[in-house]
Amino acid sequence: MRRPRVLVLGGDGFCGWPTALHLLKQGYDITIIDNLSRRAIDKELGVSSLTPIQSIETRLQCVLQLTGSKINFHLLDIANDYDAFLDVLKTYQPTAIVHFAEQRAAPYSMKSSLTKRYTVSNNINTTHNLLAAVVESQLNCHIVHLGTMGVYGYGTAAMKIPEGYLDIEVRLDNGECQTQQILYPAMPGSIYHMTKAQDQLMFAYYNKNYGLRITDLHQGIVWGTQTVETSLDERLINRFDYDGDYGTVLNRFLMQSAMGYDLTVHGSGRQTRAFIHISDTVRCIQLAIGSAPEIFSRVRIMNQMTETHRLCDLALMIKDMTGANINYVSNPRNEASENELFVENANLRKLGLEPRLLQQGLLKEITDIAKRYSHRFDPDCIPCRSYW
Ligand code: NAD
Repeated sequence: MRRPRVLVLGGDGFCGWPTALHLLKQGYDITIIDNLSRRAIDKELGVSSLTPIQSIETRLQCVLQLTGSKINFHLLDIANDYDAFLDVLKTYQPTAIVHFAEQRAAPYSMKSSLTKRYTVSNNINTTHNLLAAVVESQLNCHIVHLGTMGVYGYGTAAMKIPEGYLDIEVRLDNGECQTQQILYPAMPGSIYHMTKAQDQLMFAYYNKNYGLRITDLHQGIVWGTQTVETSLDERLINRFDYDGDYGTVLNRFLMQSAMGYDLTVHGSGRQTRAFIHISDTVRCIQLAIGSAPEIFSRVRIMNQMTETHRLCDLALMIKDMTGANINYVSNPRNEASENELFVENANLRKLGLEPRLLQQGLLKEITDIAKRYSHRFDPDCIPCRSYW
């Protein structure tokens, strides 16, 4: 019997590569589509992953050698090569499609009018081409998209952010009050986040008008580098970005502490953000695929995060582990100087997610990744050169 087929869009990237390996291990047949634009952006910015990521060809050969299973790969730009993409869908007939294939860095999206236009055109067209192609090919497949917590804007202490939908009370013309559910109002803080907010509308439209089965996972900042599967062989290693555009705040702190630099906290440090470990990301996607209903009465939205922290508390946590100093610097971003954040994540918890927490894994990340590959570190990459 043929194994269930999963098409991983953006499967060469930071989340996509470990997901492809994890799903292969769980018995799925895997095909990756990627245009390798993320590797091209590294070249454009003059930066590279701290970890020595191998070419996609070497990665795939290594998988075959270690597991005896082949991952198929198509070098294809989903935003600009619709016909070739449609062809893959018709031939491969996936049961699920996991969509990671977007430009994902807020700072990069804010660099210039060129990167703004690239991010909008790439992300919106990729998502819309996917939806149009699923309708045109008449596939009955489940689409799992990686969205972001950033579409909700900044949280407050007054309310837990729900999973995608907000209960509102409206006053009817006859004076009666009625409760309705609407998509949580989007409040994007960058061009990148704006494209993710647009994605939500396209999903709602295609679900309502064509009955497409869609799960949108609103993900927090992903931390960590390796999963069980990427650790099997150094040729499978996952990427670790620490540059000013693609490096997350946590990766910057980890690198700074490993190299004996001060941890640079932007602004007050009282900005609160949501986090999830890369092993939990791949597990959540498996849970989402395994729990898809036959009919989606609306887009299923789940918050994919496991904990929240203020940035100053993260810096303190690393200081306690490593003795690094903390240096508060002016914030290059136009964002609230402080916020509280409480997030509902009951849906994935009910499906079986057991979080791996920062406190348990940070030290290992510092020794196994930041220190181990410190000979590849380039200090010029760290400062953020995007201001907005
Ligand atoms: P990434 O940049 O490492 O991976 C994205 C992959 O998609 C890359 O390999 C890139 O080459 C490919 N791609 C982009 N445009 C494409 C196109 N037009 N055609 C084909 N391939 C294309 O990013 P990531 O960190 O793995 O993020 C994956 C998804 O998860 C993104 O949509 C992102 O918004 C979301 N997300 C990531 C994080 C995080 O912390 N990394 C947090 C929240 C949400």
